[in-house]
Amino acid sequence: MTTRRRLLWLLGAGAVSWRAGARDEAAGERYADPNARFERHFNEPFFDQYWVRNTDQAVASGYYRVAGSLNVPDALYRADYQRFLEHWLAQLRSVPLTQLNDRNRTDWAVLDSRLRYEQWALTTLREWQWNPAIYNIAEPLALILDTEYAPLDQRLRTASARLADVPAYYAAASRALLRPTREHTALAIDQNRGALQLLGTGLEQQIAGSGITPKERARLATQIKAARAAVQTYIDALQALTTGPAALAARSFRIGQALYGQKFLFVHQSGESAPSLYRRALSEKELVLARMDELSNQLWSQYFPDSATPVDRYERIGRVIAKLSENHVAPADYVPAVERLIPALADWVESHRLIDLDPSKPLQVRETPSYERGVAIAGIDAPGPYDPAARTYFNVDPLDQDTPEQAESFLREYNNWMLPVFIAHETIPGHYVQLMYANRSPSRIKSIFGNGAMIEGWAVYSERMMLESGYGGNASEQWLMYWKWYLRSVTNTILDYSVHVLGMSEAVAKDLLRHEAFQSEKEVAGKWIRVQRSSVQLTQYYSGFSAIYRLRERVQHAQGDRFDLRAFHEQFLSYGSAPVAVIAVLMSPGASSP
Ligand code: ZN
Ligand code: ZN
Repeated sequence: MTTRRRLLWLLGAGAVSWRAGARDEAAGERYADPNARFERHFNEPFFDQYWVRNTDQAVASGYYRVAGSLNVPDALYRADYQRFLEHWLAQLRSVPLTQLNDRNRTDWAVLDSRLRYEQWALTTLREWQWNPAIYNIAEPLALILDTEYAPLDQRLRTASARLADVPAYYAAASRALLRPTREHTALAIDQNRGALQLLGTGLEQQIAGSGITPKERARLATQIKAARAAVQTYIDALQALTTGPAALAARSFRIGQALYGQKFLFVHQSGESAPSLYRRALSEKELVLARMDELSNQLWSQYFPDSATPVDRYERIGRVIAKLSENHVAPADYVPAVERLIPALADWVESHRLIDLDPSKPLQVRETPSYERGVAIAGIDAPGPYDPAARTYFNVDPLDQDTPEQAESFLREYNNWMLPVFIAHETIPGHYVQLMYANRSPSRIKSIFGNGAMIEGWAVYSERMMLESGYGGNASEQWLMYWKWYLRSVTNTILDYSVHVLGMSEAVAKDLLRHEAFQSEKEVAGKWIRVQRSSVQLTQYYSGFSAIYRLRERVQHAQGDRFDLRAFHEQFLSYGSAPVAVIAVLMSPGASSP
């Protein structure tokens, strides 16, 4: 699912009214109860200050109060940000941690780690110097123009306020850059061309159809012209970096062992080091391949009665997978198939006592609205903070804009064995159910800074949970397809570490994905781009999954006959999107729960 949708959903259910102006920080001191004091101090006062300094993220989170202001990324901004972080970290240090309840303790852990990560990113990782793609005005502006959170005229005035600072913004961006990587420079050129498009005829038409005054129109026209020029100047400056001495001086997109190791600790908060997870992923891969090979050998004679089993195991497995992929729905039946799956998954989860669902909030499937298409193949579309009562949808892209070849390739990938695994990941008992539980104890801190490994790990774990409960009838075909899907998570970890720390080449990386993880060409190409442009994020699926799985085994071992799978799932999810390691402490026998 897309992060924006997730944040919108979470904010929606936990929405508390935002009050104008920064609250007096000392006001919290009047509360004798340390929990009330913590909740008071680290919600409104903290977020008021946070959003003012992160207006792009505020807009992406559905908080439009600061939408009219653009943060100009200059040295002054960074110095102020540094002071902001120091202030709030000191505030966190003074909290009597042992007196907090579970909810606040997990909030404390998430916020503390987030602020220390931001401090490290600002002073040590310094992506603001080497990643020109972080400078782009398009996304928040598109959200302001396309999201109907307010009448069009008001949104155009907000856009106008933001556009006023665009020249200063790009001038500061250019000054900040120091030996940016070639890959991020290419990405920045590409994406800022998108910004030019956004400032084009579509916007002019929007303005033409609005009710703003002639004076406001004239001002907007001037601002758009200046903004286009600023974006173009930035693109030209980046283009100059792609040739000659500047190109030779570019730093590598691989962040290297030291930075990778540190970033890994901040992002995962698992207590495990990057090399340790990498080594576990390598042995997990061998285990998965051995199981896939066993299943392929079992299935071979049934699907290829007239040919001998290939000697090479990758060929054996790959051919069985290709054969099974033929079993898929027709393009026109894709959306109905997803519609049928959601209640079927819900029934299964309930009747097998895996986890309790809220029957008053059924998830409704719909075709992705046209303005949202092309971003993801499917995803949760949840209500925003100002519309918490609105329905939650599961958007499915109906494939009607695909060529027959594209649709066929997609449907082979999401064949009749794979589709339920994918939908379980996204909805029930995966992401949708996790959000449902997280919202029972709304926490703005966790909804904004939630732990990605916990969130993705739960979705990956929920696939396994379904198969272990007998979903798919324990058919060899179902398990083989499941393992292929799961292998993707494991391989993501191996790929990310190998590329950023061990210097794995593009050719070797692509061969790993294609040959040893049975991925399609489209997926291979997309993954190579993703690993160049991000680091550590790709490891969170396996990291989170394995942490949850290990925790379950530990609890099961400790509880013996008393262990109840449903109770375990419900308790695990009750803490919200906190790091698995933090949840593990809270779930361990003897943990106090005031
Ligand atoms: Zn086909
Ligand atoms: Zn996911």
